Amino acid sequence: MKSSCTCSLVPEHVLEKLSADTSLPPRVRLACTETVKADRGFRKVRTAQKDATFAGTVTLAVTPTILVYDERHSQTLPGAPIPSPTVSDDATAKRCALETAAVASFYQAVFGRNSVDDHGATLASSIHYGNSYNNAMWNGHQMIYGDGDGQIFLDFTASNDVIGHELTHGVTQHTAGLIYSGESGALNESISDCFGSMFRQWQANQTSATADWLIGASIMGPAAVAKGYTCLRDMASPGATHCLSPQPGDYAHYVPGGDVHTNSGIPNRAFCLAAKACGGNSWTKVGKVWYGALTSPKATPGMGFKKFAALTVAIAKSLYPMDGTVQAAVVSAWNTTRVLP
Ligand SMILES: [Zn+2]
Repeated sequence: MKSSCTCSLVPEHVLEKLSADTSLPPRVRLACTETVKADRGFRKVRTAQKDATFAGTVTLAVTPTILVYDERHSQTLPGAPIPSPTVSDDATAKRCALETAAVASFYQAVFGRNSVDDHGATLASSIHYGNSYNNAMWNGHQMIYGDGDGQIFLDFTASNDVIGHELTHGVTQHTAGLIYSGESGALNESISDCFGSMFRQWQANQTSATADWLIGASIMGPAAVAKGYTCLRDMASPGATHCLSPQPGDYAHYVPGGDVHTNSGIPNRAFCLAAKACGGNSWTKVGKVWYGALTSPKATPGMGFKKFAALTVAIAKSLYPMDGTVQAAVVSAWNTTRVLP
């Protein structure tokens, strides 16, 4: 049994900062305050459940069933089932179903993985969660998407990397089971950004050189754009001023006790650097190395950056014994981010 997490996309400190920003309309600030409250509630529920409900959820399906539920702005999960979401008149429902299926196809085609558990587990999502809820979430069982306040954040299903990010939390839960605090928590968050970004690049058939490496670029609302924010995070440049949630980009600037979404910038940048150094598509070589590390029997729930980095170096060598450029790119990326000496 692996530990599960209540893993959100937007960190609490960013929402708190926005709720205190007097330049924003009261309605937007209230949406941020309410989102923080809802997120804290999720974490309490998870702690109380202690993963008990996870027992016996093994399913065997050739491809995962995709379910979408309509919360109709309530906060009681999962909401009302949407009979045929892929042909729904509700653009959010349709997008959620199609993009979730596309993420499942990405995992199948690139990594030979059948859903989050590799046994075809049903992938459930609840949309229109709460009122102007400013987050997306994996709660240990399913994905949850808010509509956003329309000013700072748009509908959270609008960025396909966000859907890839949330589903990947399920993959991490069923593989390394990275504990959602400290370095392992930051790794957990980073894995979701890496695979979310890879999925976005795979869908657009972009190379590592042509990809923008932004997380949440399509959920930035007009007020966020007016303030100069073009994304939530930038894997290539984690500390850039265009990031709504800026991060450190190397281990010398690791924030002790920092939010998991803060320190994830360090391994995010390492992945981006390695992929760019290898050239071509991120998912063909470096993506497989990262996936190999995540699913390795040597991966442990409490794994820190250095252990994960060493694992990627070893896996690069074992996967590409005749192509030293992959291992060299991975080593160089961890050197540049000062995780490995
Ligand atoms: Zn996350």
